[in-house]
Amino acid sequence: MENMHVTELQIDLTALKHNYQYLKSKTKPNTKVLAVVKASAYGLEPTHIAAELEKENIDYFGVAYANEGILLREKGIHTPILVLHAQPQNYGLLVKYKLEPNIYSLHTLKQFLNFAKEQQLKEYPIHLKFNSGLNRLGFNNNEVNELLKLVLNNPTIKVASAFSHIAASEDLNEKEFTEKQITTFNNIIAQLQSKLTDRFTVHMSNTSGVINYPNAHFDMVRLGIGLYGFGNDAKETAQLKNVATLKSVISQIRTIQKGDNVSYNRAFTAQQQEKIAIIPIGHADGFSRPLGCGNGYVSINGQKAYTSGNVCMDMILVNVTNIDCKEGDEVIIFNSQETVEKFATICNTISYEILTAISQRIKRTFIH
Ligand SMILES: *Cc1c(COP(=O)(O)O)cnc(C)c1O
Repeated sequence: MENMHVTELQIDLTALKHNYQYLKSKTKPNTKVLAVVKASAYGLEPTHIAAELEKENIDYFGVAYANEGILLREKGIHTPILVLHAQPQNYGLLVKYKLEPNIYSLHTLKQFLNFAKEQQLKEYPIHLKFNSGLNRLGFNNNEVNELLKLVLNNPTIKVASAFSHIAASEDLNEKEFTEKQITTFNNIIAQLQSKLTDRFTVHMSNTSGVINYPNAHFDMVRLGIGLYGFGNDAKETAQLKNVATLKSVISQIRTIQKGDNVSYNRAFTAQQQEKIAIIPIGHADGFSRPLGCGNGYVSINGQKAYTSGNVCMDMILVNVTNIDCKEGDEVIIFNSQETVEKFATICNTISYEILTAISQRIKRTFIH
């Protein structure tokens, strides 16, 4: 057990595959799937995850930035990759690595078309993003005509897809707003289809869209958080399998006496004799400071050990007074029972932020 003295994020690729198949089964046959592997596949690790999904014949990958796509290409991933936030200064790299840009404004369209002409590209795949209410990246409704004038009969590019993004797909209280977004997007698609002769892929839904809005599945869905084990409610999450387990070991156990303080700024004072365990994970690893001072906990031998005092950069201290444990014992930060979502609730945030905040210094391991 000596070599277990290291905090690790264990990634279950079989669970990933299950989640992919489960979510795909919610769509009509022949609906394509784009796996969103931005931000290191939500903090898990992008290359093993992409390789596993490639074995499942996934149709597309989505990354946020060019360098994330380059990493996948360098690791041998050959599936098409959409760069969701393609920036004009990276167009050269995109083409070099066969990455496909999201074109989201007249400005970026003109820049890409100039670049494509200069480089003498032929039918280079681009993806057009439309704003239907999120008001983030995307062309507005009233820019469609000008956009069409620029792309029609331009041999340097081809429109591979047209897409939009739902603002509140997880929230059924926002159903009316979401249906309006879907209608707006449908109208834009109709305008494009009346002018563009070549077929292009249409997509709008993220994970919660897949679950809540079958009328927004179109030709392809974009799965992120669902692949990694989280649906938009307890019922859907129960159908998914846990992918990520974060665990560590006890480095040291000490006994403190009544009146002794624990950790920085003496934030905790013992009222009686206590046993404190020191765990090698801290706020620099993504164990966030709001989890300190008894707000958060880890699991040791099946029991909850609450934090004692402030979270340090590289360590936490937990109260193990009533837990039978010894130095070297395993510590579970989160797994299928003690979920990322419970963590997120304590930190007043969402599972996405907890996962993506797990620092790169934590070793990723894989199980099949
Ligand atoms: C991140 C992202 C997704 C994935 O969303 P999930 O809620 O994680 O499924 C889909 N589409 C776009 C445009 C995104 O930025």
